[in-house]
Amino acid sequence: MNQAKSFSQQIETHPEIAARFPDLHPPFDRQAAVTEANRCLYCFDAPCTAACPTHIDVPAFIKKIASGNTTGSAKTILEANILGASCSRACPVDVLCEGSCVMHRYNKQPIEIGRLQRYAMESLYDKGLPHPFTPAADTGMKVALIGAGPASLACAAELRRRGVATTIYEASSLPGGLNTYGIAEYKLPLAESLREIDMLTQLGVDFLFNARVNAGMLVELERTHDAVFLGMGLGAIHKLGITGEELSGVTNALDFIAGYKAGEILSVPERVVVVGAGNTAIDAANAAVRLGAKQVHMIYRRGPDKMSAFEFEYEHARQEGVQFLWHVQPTRILGAGNVEGLELVQLSATDDGSLIPQAGTEYSLPVELVILAIGQATHTSFLGETIKLERGRIAADHATGQTSNPKFFAGGDCTNGGREVVDAVADGKRAGVAMAAWLEAQHANA
Ligand code: SF4
Repeated sequence: MNQAKSFSQQIETHPEIAARFPDLHPPFDRQAAVTEANRCLYCFDAPCTAACPTHIDVPAFIKKIASGNTTGSAKTILEANILGASCSRACPVDVLCEGSCVMHRYNKQPIEIGRLQRYAMESLYDKGLPHPFTPAADTGMKVALIGAGPASLACAAELRRRGVATTIYEASSLPGGLNTYGIAEYKLPLAESLREIDMLTQLGVDFLFNARVNAGMLVELERTHDAVFLGMGLGAIHKLGITGEELSGVTNALDFIAGYKAGEILSVPERVVVVGAGNTAIDAANAAVRLGAKQVHMIYRRGPDKMSAFEFEYEHARQEGVQFLWHVQPTRILGAGNVEGLELVQLSATDDGSLIPQAGTEYSLPVELVILAIGQATHTSFLGETIKLERGRIAADHATGQTSNPKFFAGGDCTNGGREVVDAVADGKRAGVAMAAWLEAQHANA
């Protein structure tokens, strides 16, 4: 690590944010964890393990909790998922491991795998023990990784465990990507994301911050490194392209979430609209409620059956008090200097699924803050022509992450268009293992 302070020492959670965004699911204490672990049936060919993109051996880590071996439990988790702590909080367990738990078949509550995983990981980190893994002997090979999000972190960890030197180039001033800046604080606090990365630095991963890689720099990295991993995620959130988008009071969901997590946004106006219906849109809408908005609307062009947010996130937002307006589209943001309202029009769907604005249905919603959450653009313009894209995403082999240029590997949102943290970790892990094997083969053939 190049800096005097650890990452988690460089930033403090604002007390007001900590108070307004307490844990959604409080942690288990020892007794509760052991009791829950003892409910597990330790299934053979466990469906929970199959459902996890990183294939954590769930029955094995739960059994170790039941027998009091929490350090061994955390090690089992880390073998499969180097970001096991943040994934225990950020994963949509209802649709992954817990969603596939056999307990559902017996009309019983699924095992609380996420909370047990968190218990094991936090037990390890709270003890202040060194990271259970150590780097292998230096192979003399080195890899540059673009972006310090979950995919690059997982890839770098695998490479370090195989003796490959790694340097991560990150455009912002802290690591973690969406893990640090983009997930609701009541799910994954910024400080927890950084604490986990502090542990990772013990493997000897180097970071260069405020380093935005452009086309020229990428050519140089290719020349000076044995391979390059592309894990830079996605780019800016799309704009609506309507009048008034330049007004003060229009922002995007990622900036908004990062702003409050960093303690730079502590309150919002009374009336807020979030445009979009994905999981990030929900995180932004819930945050607006918790930051003091009296009225928060989410608006979406289609109906609830088509929203990309998970069902449990939708239910959570309704419980928080978010109101939903379906089949509407913004046509104009109103105001002079500051946002004062949002003009909407009702949409109807044709037989082929196209959406048609209905003349005469326009109306305006009084609002002082508009948050855009309508998907992110790709961030690939700096890549050379030897790296092929498919529908704007980097085309990479699923098993290895290797791209059309064999020296470049890729994973995470820049290849899958924006999925879960655990998917990015799985991509990075696969790519790290494959890169190390590819580098060894290149070395042997040299
Ligand atoms: Fe335990 Fe449920 Fe996984 Fe079976 S499916 S091993 S009961 S968590």
